[in-house]
Amino acid sequence: MGNAKRPDEFELIARFFAPLAEGETGALGLQDDAALLSPEPGKRLIVTTDTLSAGVHFPVGEAPGDTAARLLGVNLSDLAAMGARPWVYTLSLCLPEDWQPSFLEEFAAELGRQQETHGLRLVGGDTVAGKGPLTLTLTVIGTVDKGGELRRSGAQAGDQVYLSGTLGDGTLGLRVMQGEIDGLDRKHAEELLARYRRPRPRVQLGLRLAGLATAAIDVSDGLVADLGHVAEASGQDAVIEAGRVPYSDAARAAFALEPELMETVLTGGDDYELLFTAPPSTADDIEGLSKELDLALTRIGHMHGGGGADGDGAGDVRVIDDDGREMTFAEAGYRHF
Ligand code: ADP
Ligand code: MG
Repeated sequence: MGNAKRPDEFELIARFFAPLAEGETGALGLQDDAALLSPEPGKRLIVTTDTLSAGVHFPVGEAPGDTAARLLGVNLSDLAAMGARPWVYTLSLCLPEDWQPSFLEEFAAELGRQQETHGLRLVGGDTVAGKGPLTLTLTVIGTVDKGGELRRSGAQAGDQVYLSGTLGDGTLGLRVMQGEIDGLDRKHAEELLARYRRPRPRVQLGLRLAGLATAAIDVSDGLVADLGHVAEASGQDAVIEAGRVPYSDAARAAFALEPELMETVLTGGDDYELLFTAPPSTADDIEGLSKELDLALTRIGHMHGGGGADGDGAGDVRVIDDDGREMTFAEAGYRHF
């Protein structure tokens, strides 16, 4: 049973969502049964979807704007990793029984801001109320020129491995939120929290990597695991030079307090930076791109032929320290050998 003050489904769509469809005629004002989309001739579509559930993928009671930014951000990060330009998206909401209009108001307002930033429009969705927690599914459609997509499978032996931005801030921000990093000063704590709350999908970078990168992935499972996905898809092995991995000052401050957090960030996820490979001949172009985008693009390792020395097939990722010694990661700590 609904609260009398809450809008019904049609009012809700008209009030909160139809404004987000303005400017995209294919949305049909969210007033027909489905959207009617006309991609530009010669373009290919890149489609990705993610579901987030309160209490599982984001904290219960999170600010609605943060949830909106996260939901769109995780999807846009996947588009960025494919080199796609965001175009349209659909949104499916399963609201908890006690949902409030103020939630949707703040949620939709942030979607509107994100749309402006990233240049996409809402074209459809579904709205239901259920007995479970707030659960949101967003599907983004982007476009690429034919052949311009970035795949995980294109890395070649000798390619350099690059990482955008800094590693680990999102993971560390979650730890800060959970009260797990004692003694961190307020400024650094706030910076890490902000990175956890608002993923920054590297959409512009993804668009500019066409013709430079041979393979790309967004870091969502963790640097080592995600490079492993690229290596395996590409039939290569990979090496990460731990000393080259870029960290923010805030992350370094956290490591100074708890050195074992460094393993957490090498193997933990939720950074939404791009990890990509490119041949050495593109080094100057990548440096130029980094300056142009005002975004660090750091060479952190390289690819080499898979299945050779160790004979166990491609997809191995070795992490080496400054002395060239291999670091191994257990669940609760790394050791040298
Ligand atoms: P149906 O009953 O066929 O599921 P709906 O009444 O759910 O249709 O949806 C009517 C229109 O409103 C459709 O165009 C649908 O895409 C749109 N819509 C419904 N919910 C949302 C939402 N959360 N965001 C955007 N569009 C929505
Ligand atoms: Mg419906």
